[in-house]
Amino acid sequence: LLTQALGRIEAARDLNAVVSLHEGAAEQAGRVEARLSAGETLPLAGVPILVKDNINVAGTRTTCGSRILSTYVSSYTATAAQNLLSAGAVIVGKANMDEFAMGSSTESSASGPTLNPWDRSRVPGGSSGGSAAAVAAGLTPVSLGSDTGGSVRQPAALCGVYGLKPTYGRVSRYGLVAYASSLDQIGPFARSAADLALMMNVLAGHDPHDATSLDVPAHFTRGGADTLRGLRVGVVRESLTGNTPGVEAALRDTLGALRGAGASVGEVGIPELKYAVATYYLIAMPEASSNLARYDGMVYGQREPGADVTGSMTLTREKGFGREVQRRIMIGTYALSSGYYDAYYSKAMKVRRLIADEFAQAFADYDVLVTPTSPFPAFRRGEKTHDPLAMYAADVDTVAINLAGLPALSVPAGFEEVQGARLPVGVQFIAPALHDERLVALAGGLE
Ligand code: GLN
Repeated sequence: LLTQALGRIEAARDLNAVVSLHEGAAEQAGRVEARLSAGETLPLAGVPILVKDNINVAGTRTTCGSRILSTYVSSYTATAAQNLLSAGAVIVGKANMDEFAMGSSTESSASGPTLNPWDRSRVPGGSSGGSAAAVAAGLTPVSLGSDTGGSVRQPAALCGVYGLKPTYGRVSRYGLVAYASSLDQIGPFARSAADLALMMNVLAGHDPHDATSLDVPAHFTRGGADTLRGLRVGVVRESLTGNTPGVEAALRDTLGALRGAGASVGEVGIPELKYAVATYYLIAMPEASSNLARYDGMVYGQREPGADVTGSMTLTREKGFGREVQRRIMIGTYALSSGYYDAYYSKAMKVRRLIADEFAQAFADYDVLVTPTSPFPAFRRGEKTHDPLAMYAADVDTVAINLAGLPALSVPAGFEEVQGARLPVGVQFIAPALHDERLVALAGGLE
């Protein structure tokens, strides 16, 4: 399996989905064979896996798509990755991403952009675009990404695979390089509900190294068609405008399939969603400005020489961070500074609470909510790189879920023909906190 995966990665080098190979992979595969011969049963025995390049795996380079960490080698392994290894998986390498997970297209990586396997002139989505493209192209059957505002779900939709953002706290963040700590979650990409279930049973669980991780047992199963009978599905009204015809059709088809399988479908309003993108960026950027303060060349990665310590730090950050990361550090610092904190950050925190409350209210009447994952399918490379606000708007359907801490799954739901290209479209299901299992069961019911 490892040899096959390496062959496929080599053959698909033009996608630029993989930024580095794990030198210890063959040794890991050998250890799995030994454990199997010793009679162990391993749920992921020998399964080759790629992990996003912001997840630490001891002995691998972890660059976060940034020049500033281009030489950084992890000294320890993230709990999520360790759980995969303990279950017999083999980590074959690291997947490309937007710098520090900031972006929706995987174009801001210091390693260059990842291409969408469905149409190489288009983006795979982001920020976990490498992980999504790799699974879509069959390089590995599953992969790991991270989702702060949609970075697992949106690339899953644009690449035609499943992508799950778990309830905040269900998967340990220990060893995930922080972007916005109150929003970040690691999540799996897969090509079937069964594979998602397999992954989540291994990934979820309490970790003493992450104080926000939850002690909730994981019982993920694929779920059959009968899972959908009697399910109360609420379509989020605010997500019904501004979508391309193909996205509208995919949502319509999905609702038809749900009704056909015995679910009831209604419509629900979450008016505060109009503030979701603004609120998200006013929380994500301040948290990022604080988290990224540690990259000053003194401890991690590249250090630029300067006349004195301050000079060296300044030059290191100036040369090491890309434009988007610098923009976010500046906006984030501004929103946290005295005199502006009350006007921006503190307001955003209040709206965050309102959004979470409105979701909770919607779940009084519905078992799951549904929206498109993205208002449009994969866009062309370069189309949004000079317009940050257009790039931020790509997350209009996903960011609110992180603000509320909820689980959400993007499910492949059809295709849209655009200028001769057949582009995948995804639909997003949202469940109440801790009901991640419901989403995977539902996805199985729809297959
Ligand atoms: N695109 C969003 C952002 O740039 C979400 C990124 C993510 O989920 N990591 O912040």
